[in-house]
Amino acid sequence: MQGCKFRDCSHNAEPGCRVKEALENGELSIERWENYIKLKREASFAEAKENINIRLKEKLRNKSIAKFQKQFQKGRR
Ligand SMILES: [Zn+2]
Repeated sequence: MQGCKFRDCSHNAEPGCRVKEALENGELSIERWENYIKLKREASFAEAKENINIRLKEKLRNKSIAKFQKQFQKGRR
């Protein structure tokens, strides 16, 4: 939402929040606002899921690298 005092405004209780103001004077309907929050939450949830997948893949890769190194060292002896 544009017009908030702070760029990282979470639109909860920040001073100078444009959303709060718009909700108070009826510029923004509560239904529309709740819809926006819902969409935002779903987006961040999807993002978090993606991050977990990336982390898991990295973990697996590190594991197989460690395994390979172990085998490599064994073979050298
Ligand atoms: Zn805000």
